[in-house]
Amino acid sequence: MEDQRLLEVSGLRVEFPRPDGPVCAARGIDLSVGKGEIVALVGESGSGKSATALGLIRLVPPPGKVCGGRVSLAGTQLLSLSEAEIRPFRGAGIAYVPQEPGVALSPVLTIGAQIVDVIRAHRKVSRRDAWKEAAASLGRVGIPDPERRVKEYAHEFSGGMKQRALIALALAARPKVLVADEPTTAIDVTLQAGILDLFRGLVDSQQLGGVLLITHDLGVVAAVCDRVLVMYAGRIVEEAPVEQLFERPLHPYTRALIASMPSAEVSRGDLPTIPGQVPDLSRLPGGCSFHPRCAVAEPRCQEEDPPLREDRPGRRVACLLEELP
Ligand code: SF4
Repeated sequence: MEDQRLLEVSGLRVEFPRPDGPVCAARGIDLSVGKGEIVALVGESGSGKSATALGLIRLVPPPGKVCGGRVSLAGTQLLSLSEAEIRPFRGAGIAYVPQEPGVALSPVLTIGAQIVDVIRAHRKVSRRDAWKEAAASLGRVGIPDPERRVKEYAHEFSGGMKQRALIALALAARPKVLVADEPTTAIDVTLQAGILDLFRGLVDSQQLGGVLLITHDLGVVAAVCDRVLVMYAGRIVEEAPVEQLFERPLHPYTRALIASMPSAEVSRGDLPTIPGQVPDLSRLPGGCSFHPRCAVAEPRCQEEDPPLREDRPGRRVACLLEELP
């Protein structure tokens, strides 16, 4: 049977040195993205989601580094490749949409020229056809008047348009897997649904193998994802198919995240929040990292660090409680 897993990550560790010792932003991450899947990696800011994304594509900014684990893309071990060997896998193998669109676009080339370069680097397409495709790709991500806009520079685009141009740029190489870090955060809410529909449509029509979508927005997760990984303090604490996560969240952190989702029924001021803050990764509390904020913590939670265990088929959770809902 054909292996349906496109991206497989196991034991990924990402460290950043600090004067008082290295800080581990991703502490042994296991995740996978299968063909036809959109997988969400969710958690609050500072939970290690972006470090995980940068680690698996080997773009951790120095002096940070990947210090352990395996990343397999359609059977190729990315972490054992040299920098020259991994270059062809970026773009056509695995493409990345960063959170900060401003720094990722060239200020000296038009948006169109950047997309054309990517198209022609990966496919035999005439320059003229590549320009047509570049304009069409801007239209697909909701940029108005794309034939004119394709000849403009990044400084002529708003923040939301830059974000959408980056998505067009990443998709231009027709990657197997797209890793998108908060791809709709800078985009008007009216356009977000169009981008999410675009991802879903590309995956369902097999023009895109799969997506790892990094977000803090559970509304985005519910709208488009198949499976969800919840991250806290550098670790995965829960994994579930999306419907099961919302119907029956197991980990107390997931339950608190879902409870703090805005909804039309909740009046202003009544929205529950998670007490406390995401811990500083250089000073993690002992035992379960979530215990200072956990509504159902027991004394042993301060001593024991719960492993990520399979609670039921397709569901993993890192919590010491035997009786989960
Ligand atoms: Fe809460 Fe304890 Fe479970 Fe951690 S192990 S999530 S502190 S109940």
